[in-house]
Amino acid sequence: MKGKLFVIGFGPGSFEHITKRARDAIEESEVVIGYTTYVELISGLLTNQKVVSTGMTEEVSRAREAVRQAEQGKKVAVISSGDAGVYGMAGLIYEVLIEQGWREAEGVEVEVIPGISAINSCAALLGAPVMHDACTISLSDHLTPWELIAKRIDAAGQADFVIALYNPKSGRRTRQIVEAQNILLKYRSPDTPVGIVKSAYRERERVELTTLGKMLDHDIGMLTTVIIGNASTFVYDGKMITPRGYQRKYTLTADEQPLKPHERLRKENEPWALDGEPAEQKAPGRTPYEWARAALSMLAQSGRAADAAMSAVFVPARETAASAAFAAAASPAAGTAVASEFRQEVIFECAVSPGVASKKFTPQQMMAMADVAGDEGEIEYTPHHQIILRIPTADPTPITRRLREAGLLLMPVGDVVQIKACDFCDGEKKDAIPYAEELHHLLGGQTVPKDLKIGINGCGMACYGAVKEEIGLVYRKGGFDLFLGAKSVGRNAHAGVPVAEGIPPEEIVPLLERIVKRYREEAFPNERFHKFFKRVGEIEGFVYRDVTAVKIEDAVCGS
Ligand code: SAH
Repeated sequence: MKGKLFVIGFGPGSFEHITKRARDAIEESEVVIGYTTYVELISGLLTNQKVVSTGMTEEVSRAREAVRQAEQGKKVAVISSGDAGVYGMAGLIYEVLIEQGWREAEGVEVEVIPGISAINSCAALLGAPVMHDACTISLSDHLTPWELIAKRIDAAGQADFVIALYNPKSGRRTRQIVEAQNILLKYRSPDTPVGIVKSAYRERERVELTTLGKMLDHDIGMLTTVIIGNASTFVYDGKMITPRGYQRKYTLTADEQPLKPHERLRKENEPWALDGEPAEQKAPGRTPYEWARAALSMLAQSGRAADAAMSAVFVPARETAASAAFAAAASPAAGTAVASEFRQEVIFECAVSPGVASKKFTPQQMMAMADVAGDEGEIEYTPHHQIILRIPTADPTPITRRLREAGLLLMPVGDVVQIKACDFCDGEKKDAIPYAEELHHLLGGQTVPKDLKIGINGCGMACYGAVKEEIGLVYRKGGFDLFLGAKSVGRNAHAGVPVAEGIPPEEIVPLLERIVKRYREEAFPNERFHKFFKRVGEIEGFVYRDVTAVKIEDAVCGS
């Protein structure tokens, strides 16, 4: 009679996390072999099995003993914590068998039973730090030369893997974790989130969140797994989270602003994909920076910008390759060594205008925009009294500072409230300006279910088309006329419903605040204001009326 070898991973240590197959196999076995601590952990599962438990370093003798007993015809369970195939007994069992010329067809039967490895159990306790490409590295140089371990840490650091460090430190091995930190700091910010989990799902479980820079201030030992985040890992409410992909665009309102799924899937948002669109394939011609430069030199020739200002503004073109989605920027490390830091190329996006009422850019403001956009940025003219800047950078602070110093008004891009005022006849009809500015101050940039434009025109002429915005205000005879629910785009576009005339100016700001609040709180995601108004039928006592007299097929984009 042939025996059988079960090589079992029993998971992190708690009863509930042992698989059914592992339990059944232990129950079926006549002999259980494992490291003393592990045998104790599963002792609740033992009935009348013979137990062979030994110390940590006797793995080879444990494996030999297991094979010997199985060859005698016994059913033998060899147990490992976590998964037996991850720094566990599985490989060793096969090595011993192979040494003896074992073949599956004739030899003892072997069944490797998978278990939850520490990378998974510890990740679960931390939140979702693994998620993306990750690797495990054991810092034990007991069986592996340190040089090779260091090389692997280096490679993983460089390639932006999330890293789970097993066997990070022991009583005698204390330098390895220090070295590992040093290597990783060449590639990752000291602020990179790091999770330290001791005894996951065991009695003395401890879960701590720290950073790459501070991780050594924490207690790390043989029962600990250290999980190091990648460049996009973040901490939210005590949870360590790695997003499933790399985020490309972000705007003013928040530093962490992942693209929505439908936006993510657009080719232009994934230029790094195999079939993405590399920057070189863009239409030939001038880059936005070159256009701005040309326009500015014309301005300069017309005498409207001083030469001194010009030369102060134009920075030399950067020499980094625009097409590289992941640019390896050389950053001189302390001393002589130069390490290449992994840096994700993200695009900072913001809308710029000369002011709520002002429609005039000064040449200096144009130069500031060209300056911050540089060679790789994009300057887009839009129909919304704003210019949109898209600039590859991970740190927008110098950009926003420079633009604000030039007197420009900065606004986030996306589903936010925008105040679109007229120029109040170049400031001549100025009575409504303070209200436009107050509305901008209170509501401008606020996140809403779908972008919401509030048009404000300073006289009854309404020549800036306030009534064509989703919410329109026209100042006339000392009061505001209010228009709600315009459909501003599409072949069936229409103006808003005139819902009130002559609203006293002091009431207009609080009224609009209430309208926007209701829209923000009650609209469905992506529901435009006019659709919302139609659906709810009434806002602040103003009743929806159908204004589309002529039926016309609504055409979707591109058709
Ligand atoms: N086969 C095991 C790993 C054995 S190596 C597995 O798949 O998980 C031993 C190392 O695993 C420890 O030094 C520690 O880094 C990690 N480890 C195992 N169990 C753990 C637990 N419950 N909590 C935290 N780390 C654990």
